Amino acid sequence: MIKKNIKIGCRGKSASFYLGKYLISNLKSAMRSFFIFIFIFCCKNLFSQDSVRINKYSVGNDTLSFHTTIYYPYSKEVSFINLHDDENTSVETGMFFLSKYGGTLMQLQHTGKRRFVFMLDGQSFSFDPNRIFTKSGIKSTLEKQSVYSEDAFFQVKKIADTLVKNYVDNKKLVIALHNNTEKGLSVLSYNKGGYEARNSARIYINLSMNPHDFMLTTDRGLFNFLKRQKINVVLQHHRPADDGSLSVYAGKKKISYINVEALHGNYDEQVRMLEVLNEIINRY
Ligand SMILES: [Zn+2]
Repeated sequence: MIKKNIKIGCRGKSASFYLGKYLISNLKSAMRSFFIFIFIFCCKNLFSQDSVRINKYSVGNDTLSFHTTIYYPYSKEVSFINLHDDENTSVETGMFFLSKYGGTLMQLQHTGKRRFVFMLDGQSFSFDPNRIFTKSGIKSTLEKQSVYSEDAFFQVKKIADTLVKNYVDNKKLVIALHNNTEKGLSVLSYNKGGYEARNSARIYINLSMNPHDFMLTTDRGLFNFLKRQKINVVLQHHRPADDGSLSVYAGKKKISYINVEALHGNYDEQVRMLEVLNEIINRY
């Protein structure tokens, strides 16, 4: 009996020994899995898209979204902005660039169209989102796209104020992403005789580039840098015509601003222009 007990005891001891060993080995494996998970989690957050933040704002009876995508790592001094909801090549190139290097992109989203239309007190109003950053800009864009009213003016101004407060005023470098059409804006529009000539202080044209693929900046140093890189570039005049665009606002506020503009569909060229800018972005 005693022997049996001992045997049973031995058997019992052995079972708990193996059970303990089993648990320890499983614990080790669980911990290994946990650290692998943490490592993957950190890598994912450090080097890829971390989050999308959507803030919705009412304008009259309609809604406008500030859609912000964040890729880590990013500098809080730099922001990428897309104001025209139909300029999809610029968003695709921006996303590609930011997923590679990190950064934040705020897109103004509504219907996928350029202009935003809203109803207020039974009346329809419309504006161009890149004409709302000065008082006279808001007035003219409402008049041009629809009709002016004081109430509509304040609705639009509220949006512009929120946008600059969060994405422009506290930045050292603002990069706007745009696309244009064959019949629309190009670097030649800023050349002598062009309809934007008075808004240009200096211009560099690389004849081997498509004139629709160009940059516009408020910063002389950036202009010189881009000229050295042989990129079509315009230095905005220090007193441009006040059309309410973000470049005019940035010029007044002395914020370094670059508009990276490419023809709709010129994906590779817009990516190349962003890659050229990367050296500048890395300084912030
Ligand atoms: Zn645009």
